[in-house]
Amino acid sequence: MAAAWQDVVRDAAAVREAAAAAVDAALLAGGLMRTGEQPNSSDVVNYAPFTLLPSAVPRALFEQAYAVQQDFNLLVDAVSQNKEFLEQTLASTIKADDFTAQLFRIYMQVLEEGLAQTVFLGINRSDYMFDCGLDGAAALKQIEINTIAASFGGLTSRTADVHRLVLKVLGKTEEASQLLPNNPAKGLALGIAKAWELYGSQRAVVMFLVEEVQRNIFDQRCVENELWNRNIRVVRRRFRDVFEQGSLDASRRLYIDGQEVAVVYYREGYVPRTYNQQNWEARLLLERSRAVKCPDIATQLAGTKKVQQELSRPGTLEKLLPGRPEAVARIRATFAGLYSLDEGEEGDRIAATAIADPDRFVLKPQREGGGNNLYGEELREVLEKIKDSPERTSYILMDKIKPQPALNYLLRAHSPLQVSECISELGIFGVYVRQGRELVLNEAAGHLLRTKAVEHADGGVAAGVAVLDTPYLV
Ligand code: ADP
Ligand code: MG
Repeated sequence: MAAAWQDVVRDAAAVREAAAAAVDAALLAGGLMRTGEQPNSSDVVNYAPFTLLPSAVPRALFEQAYAVQQDFNLLVDAVSQNKEFLEQTLASTIKADDFTAQLFRIYMQVLEEGLAQTVFLGINRSDYMFDCGLDGAAALKQIEINTIAASFGGLTSRTADVHRLVLKVLGKTEEASQLLPNNPAKGLALGIAKAWELYGSQRAVVMFLVEEVQRNIFDQRCVENELWNRNIRVVRRRFRDVFEQGSLDASRRLYIDGQEVAVVYYREGYVPRTYNQQNWEARLLLERSRAVKCPDIATQLAGTKKVQQELSRPGTLEKLLPGRPEAVARIRATFAGLYSLDEGEEGDRIAATAIADPDRFVLKPQREGGGNNLYGEELREVLEKIKDSPERTSYILMDKIKPQPALNYLLRAHSPLQVSECISELGIFGVYVRQGRELVLNEAAGHLLRTKAVEHADGGVAAGVAVLDTPYLV
């Protein structure tokens, strides 16, 4: 699998020619990002970083990832409706982690008042790596599931065409024809449109809740424009706009600048630094409203690392998905080892094991967005420091997944063209809609392949580490 393009990857002249064609094709296709210097202006834009070559992905694992997505949709939805499970699972975490605690407070407050929301929309992305076993065989292992603001469903739809062209330039016409079409944005928009329709007000808009710094706007526009194509109005607002202009009427319908909002699609709100006092108030207002939140706060909590770790305990999946042994088996097959660092003997033991052998593990805080995990020596140092303090419970431990690297070129504006040893992460987008207790839509909406140089332990495309890629099934 590492050797898919061995004949061309070291051919400097061919690579240079293909890279020039690739960059122009990406710009023509709309694989775009705003610049770091002017992140809120489209006057100057650049191409979103991507690999020169598509990366080999074992077909069986790719199919396995698609086949388990509807199960994961069901699971996330089940967790989000299970107050007892969320309460028990997050009890230790919220003592040590302020951000999760604040989300949890809003969750409880909204439940106490009684939910006004009756239609639920989940858009998630389950991420995997291909773990290379001692026998050389690769296994699909989940890294995490993102239940809020899962991105790149738009831009990724542009990369397959670019890679098709690259392969042709490199004389690989037959291989080019095998790259799969992929347009997650269409599926995400379908879910949003369904939720909008069930909300039941023709005049109501879909509100994208967006960041202050909107560098990745084109990815969002892909979803947005699919909605305009369906004659659904979209507005883009930030938390501070909601704080200043948002209101609820007596039946908790949400209004922004006088327009009723049917669906709130969060592309923001998953990192602590987003929130000041006003933005927390805005978040509470949104959660209390009748509008369909994608996700509601319960579903955001269902995506925490702590929940992921508790799901891996024997018997938990069976309880959450009763009468679905096949779904449980498919889900469990993708789990890597996950370990609680809660106070007590179990946590003491695994902490000691990880300190003795840090390269076997990843230490994860309850954060999203990349760049927060700890590895190797740093893992050892931090764990040594916190092993006897309650702070330990704000982390989980996970087995480190070790994929087989492959050579590729990471194309980034203003960066030299050089070959890198790379590893890839496959994400599958899931979309579901529930009305009351009835699931009316449950689908896999497409995929995302991201690739990074092996020397980077952590970080996504937005963080400037990984780049967009296309799977070449082998
Ligand atoms: P975040 O919510 O910050 O995206 P992730 O769990 O996705 O957190 O981790 C961020 C990155 O760290 C992943 O994209 C992956 O590259 C790497 N990573 C996470 N968990 C593991 C693991 N168990 N083994 C190897 N790499 C991992
Ligand atoms: Mg991630």
